[in-house]
Amino acid sequence: MGVRQTEAQPYEWSRKLWRDIADARFLDQLCAAVADDVLPFADQIDREDVYPIESIKRLARKGYTSLTLERKWGGQEAGFTECAAVFEESSYASAAVGISLITILQAQTLIKLFGGASLQQQVLPQFSQGLITSYALTEANHGSDIRSLDTKAVRTPEGWRVKGRKSFITSGSAAEAYIILAETDVGVSTFFVRNDMPGVSTEQGPNASTFGLRNGPHVDLVLDDVLLPLDHLVGQEGKGVRQAVTTLDFSRTVAGAISIGIARAAFDRALAFAAGRTAFDQQVIEFQGIQWYFADMMAEIDAARLLVYEACRSLDRHEDIARYSSEAKLLASRVATRTAEQAVQICGAYGVTENAAFGRYLRDAKAYEIAGGSSEILKNTIGKHLFRFSQNIMPAKG
Ligand SMILES: Cc1cc2nc3c(=O)[nH]c(=O)nc-3n(C[C@H](O)[C@H](O)[C@H](O)COP(=O)(O)OP(=O)(O)OC[C@H]3O[C@@H](n4cnc5c(N)ncnc54)[C@H](O)[C@@H]3O)c2cc1C
Repeated sequence: MGVRQTEAQPYEWSRKLWRDIADARFLDQLCAAVADDVLPFADQIDREDVYPIESIKRLARKGYTSLTLERKWGGQEAGFTECAAVFEESSYASAAVGISLITILQAQTLIKLFGGASLQQQVLPQFSQGLITSYALTEANHGSDIRSLDTKAVRTPEGWRVKGRKSFITSGSAAEAYIILAETDVGVSTFFVRNDMPGVSTEQGPNASTFGLRNGPHVDLVLDDVLLPLDHLVGQEGKGVRQAVTTLDFSRTVAGAISIGIARAAFDRALAFAAGRTAFDQQVIEFQGIQWYFADMMAEIDAARLLVYEACRSLDRHEDIARYSSEAKLLASRVATRTAEQAVQICGAYGVTENAAFGRYLRDAKAYEIAGGSSEILKNTIGKHLFRFSQNIMPAKG
């Protein structure tokens, strides 16, 4: 269609903020790994809706799936700012790879923070060897509200007997193990389940395919009277919701980084188009109306990005970050959708072709306004903090 295709060049601000959070060697190696292990497969993963097993196993071999683990478990004891950089850069190429990394991080975080010594010894070293995991909270009748569940676990002398079905499980088509939530006598509890245990299977329901974040079907996990060793209860019985909320603080923060990766990719590709395309005898980027789109996008990406990395720094300081992580995901996911939408507009007809990546960016960005905590639920969390604070404010006199 007569469009001079200019290869997208990452805009310089993409590295400027990073210089403060990680050393140059780490960032160079990360960018090289993404160029080799993610970028070549990005379109195919989305088009065919397959789990990016090759990308994930390669990233695991380079240490990116066990970055924040202690060295005794094969990790690198890296901080969450570096971890977020991995999520951002891999999602710059493919958000499907980003969410594949997130389901690994969720299981790892739960076992690291709450798992008993025996479970930690069995599972944590396997992450550096490429263990693929999923986190299964959702059920057909329980999405945002997981305070009670239809999946039940009963303690017997032989171990925990678990029965139920979890839905919408990201990475479930390739997961070798799952962290699940099930209800016991004393409330919702967390369990570790391997995919080869008798009674464990996956099914592809009618809603398994999503239009965004396509890393393979979001399967149903069927737990048909599965017998789990007693040490596969993660932490204290009945504390599953509390543990989930804590874990979501971590995963929502890096989910924000995934959205930033999507937004940056859409921005860079739109900029390359606007620099290379001519209309009315000038480059599209020369139109002031088009520059204003870029100005808005750049300001919003910078703001959301700063918030994501500030949330990471708070995670590293072990602060309560429920508000920050919710704000980071809320803002970054919204900015990603807006940026992808404006990028389509800037690129005109080319923007809506299947050949261009903008459709993928838009679909991935929108799906992340729901997955991992919908924007409404995030606003509830922020609102709760604000409400608690408001109760300490003395009423104004007069
Ligand atoms: C791409 C994708 C991947 C996913 N991956 C996983 C996964 O790996 N593991 C997993 O367990 N789940 C997964 N999910 C499910 C996801 O966690 C749920 O979709 C999400 O929690 C919302 O639940 P729901 O869809 O049942 O919506 P519902 O809870 O039915 O909500 C419907 C609408 O009401 C709003 N709403 C609900 N409660 C409130 C409230 N209190 N105040 C205001 N508004 C409210 C919601 O925001 C939403 O807009 C995934 C979803 C998607 C889209």
